[in-house]
Amino acid sequence: MDNKTFNQLKKYSDANGVVTALDDNITMKLNAYGLYEESIIDETKTINDKALQVMSHLNTHTNETKIGETLFSHIKQIKFNEQLGYYQNLYAGYVLEDNYREIATAGGIATWLFSELFKRDLIDGVIHVKQNKDKDSHLLFKYDISYSVDEIKKGAKSKYYPVEMSEVLKVVKDKPGRYALIGGPSFIMSCRLLAETKPIFKERIKFMIGLITGHQKSSRFAESLAWQAGIAPGQLSYIDFRKPIIGKPASDYAVELKGYVDHQLKTIIKPMKSFIDQDWGEGYFKTLASDFLDDVFNETADVTLGDAWLDNYNDDIDGTNVVITRNEIIDQILKEGHKQQQLKLDVLTEQEVMDTQTSHYRHTHDELKYRLYKLKIKNQWYPKKRVEAINDLSEFRQKVQDLRALIRKESHIYYLKALKEKDLNIYLNKMQSLQKMYKKLYKEKNNM
Ligand SMILES: Cc1cc2nc3c(=O)[nH]c(=O)nc-3n(C[C@H](O)[C@H](O)[C@H](O)COP(=O)(O)OP(=O)(O)OC[C@H]3O[C@@H](n4cnc5c(N)ncnc54)[C@H](O)[C@@H]3O)c2cc1C
Repeated sequence: MDNKTFNQLKKYSDANGVVTALDDNITMKLNAYGLYEESIIDETKTINDKALQVMSHLNTHTNETKIGETLFSHIKQIKFNEQLGYYQNLYAGYVLEDNYREIATAGGIATWLFSELFKRDLIDGVIHVKQNKDKDSHLLFKYDISYSVDEIKKGAKSKYYPVEMSEVLKVVKDKPGRYALIGGPSFIMSCRLLAETKPIFKERIKFMIGLITGHQKSSRFAESLAWQAGIAPGQLSYIDFRKPIIGKPASDYAVELKGYVDHQLKTIIKPMKSFIDQDWGEGYFKTLASDFLDDVFNETADVTLGDAWLDNYNDDIDGTNVVITRNEIIDQILKEGHKQQQLKLDVLTEQEVMDTQTSHYRHTHDELKYRLYKLKIKNQWYPKKRVEAINDLSEFRQKVQDLRALIRKESHIYYLKALKEKDLNIYLNKMQSLQKMYKKLYKEKNNM
């Protein structure tokens, strides 16, 4: 692919940084919208076509089902489900021991699993997302490596923030060791493709833990929440995106923000529902790549973790994980954890796992065909996915999709305008008008 085409198509990239491990003429940069993008260092050199195959939107030779088959189909009693991919067991649960659940976003199983792999001497390091220690950088979070249980615990909690893997993959390449990593579906898929291409990554990355990720956000999301709470852009120093509210269900959480207001460091806690951009379905600050993903359940990960958004777990304020296992060692560790009362684990059915992500699956997977179709009829390029580019959605669902695309796009544009003109209302007013249209659409549908 020539550099010009690459630069045109990179807007569809999830910009996970994995490609930099194969082509050192590509680097990762955060753009004005607070989104990572690939940047060619020397435009006189053509980029490496083979390297581009690790980018999920440009990959043409395989897909998540095929990679899943190679990785997992040999496992004894493995099952396959079109929606969930390959799996050994399906659970809902949380950590009972120590403070794992308390410090985590959902049930704490991600942090506990990393700690168990470490304690059992199966890994030397954990590649996950932590607070950025570089005080000169405006980035709040980044991929980093933890080498002790204490460090692993400090990296707990979901960060709805842009991240990329170029730096940590350099460490993996240069520093021999056994690593476990965690990431959203396209991150894990890219790492699988990287491991296929460069054996050193296959040798060193022993476990890949997958998150279910509704979508990826720009750094402006955190900044917007802070600005709405009174912390001006550039003054936010810490954010906890998911703080439980006593007396409310797990899904009804707050945001904790720390930053400078009138030169004084303040901590502000506000319910997520009080922010204009609180609804994940509407897609504020979403990356374009998130709308071109067909892998909801992180099908190439050794284990997939998400929130068990089911009525009987949602009432539990402390959070519960949904768990899909595809690796015998991890499944065994979980079973032992259950037996030794370190974990609470219930077995779920395929339908129950699906029910934890109903809206996410409908938007991300089922209605992707319409988003692809819209590009196809305009004769525009679109990524090769496991779903066809066709339009069989109802008129209502088409309108919902169109409006969500508009909200995604305009949130980026109007926030930047607000920032440049130092007036948050520019963003708020625009979003309010789009929200009105969105609500009207649903109201009309309900009155029909
Ligand atoms: C951007 C994003 C969107 C999500 N959307 C959904 C959703 O729609 N539905 C759903 O069920 N679950 C979603 N999740 C997953 C959910 O929020 C929890 O992360 C998951 O259930 C694991 O919970 P835990 O308590 O076991 O994790 P914890 O024990 O709190 O550990 C979380 C681990 O994930 C790492 N991490 C944090 N942020 C990131 C990141 N951005 N990228 C990679 N690793 C990270 C941390 O470093 C830590 O190791 C999302 C997560 C993220 C990061």
